[in-house]
Amino acid sequence: AAKDAGRNRLAVYSRPLGEAAERRLQLEQELRRALDRQEFVLHYQAQVDDQGRPQVMEALLRWQSPSRGLVLPGEFIPVLEDSGMIIEATRWVFREACRQARRWAEQGHALRIAVNLSPLDFRQADLAGTLLAILAEEQTPPDLLELEITESALLDAGEEVQRTLASLKAAGLPLLLDDFGTGYASLTYLQQFPFDGIKIDRQFVAGLPDSEHSVALVRGILTMARHLGLHVVAEGVSNERQAAFLRFNGCPSLQGYHYCRPQPPADIERDWPREVPGRRR
Ligand code: C2E
Ligand code: MG
Ligand code: MG
Ligand code: MG
Repeated sequence: AAKDAGRNRLAVYSRPLGEAAERRLQLEQELRRALDRQEFVLHYQAQVDDQGRPQVMEALLRWQSPSRGLVLPGEFIPVLEDSGMIIEATRWVFREACRQARRWAEQGHALRIAVNLSPLDFRQADLAGTLLAILAEEQTPPDLLELEITESALLDAGEEVQRTLASLKAAGLPLLLDDFGTGYASLTYLQQFPFDGIKIDRQFVAGLPDSEHSVALVRGILTMARHLGLHVVAEGVSNERQAAFLRFNGCPSLQGYHYCRPQPPADIERDWPREVPGRRR
């Protein structure tokens, strides 16, 4: 069998790879080194309340590549996912977010950090145990963090995912359903899983306030969330008209380029005033 495997392998490598496949392989190898050499950084984008005060900072992963410059997640997350490296990347992101949350708390910034999970993270045996161990190692109170989970993570989710989310929530980590409205069964997920809030996908926000369709959908989502006791963040708020509509309709939290772009932590500390503790929701 070993011999067969060897022969197959040879056959695979002797066939010339297409140019795209070769670029992909190259990228995958560079990402492997990037993980080992710690070339990843986190930028942070604020979620603000209706007064424009920051409540939560979403951690957004960037790759500071020596040869490519600052690379955005759209270009490398799919490769991390396909290669399985995402599991290691998520651990790094979560640990880094714990450290940052503690540093900010110590400096008097009342800021919670939101971490994005990949659907692939749920394929590992004990995601909840892994994250809770990191929290404990970094001595970070769980309510300084929250988790953003996209609907695609819940597609075909079985009891295992159910248990994972229940343990994370029981440990005190708030759970937010990311890109709300873009999945196949958004409402089912809300009924089935213990979410604390939703993030309205920016495609719905983009049509505000001129598209009747977007107006109806966003109002409907806000009303439903209020009845269910769910927190709501609107994503991709990029101008004052959108912001005004959302505030007027009682959306408690807003995020987007209108308020700020994702920034390195040093810029956050420079630009945002320290909050008195206790102001955080
Ligand atoms: P997401 O979690 O939905 O994050 C929001 C994305 O929208 C971010 O892009 C953000 O920079 C961008 N954005 C924010 N405000 C605006 C706006 O007003 N207009 C527009 N056009 N865009 C806005 P980014 O940083 O490129 O991240 C893209 C996606 O990559 C994220 O979508 C998330 O799914 C994924 N991602 C980022 N960091 C991580 C991570 O640490 N782990 C995992 N698993 N995924 C991540
Ligand atoms: Mg997110
Ligand atoms: Mg999102
Ligand atoms: Mg999104």
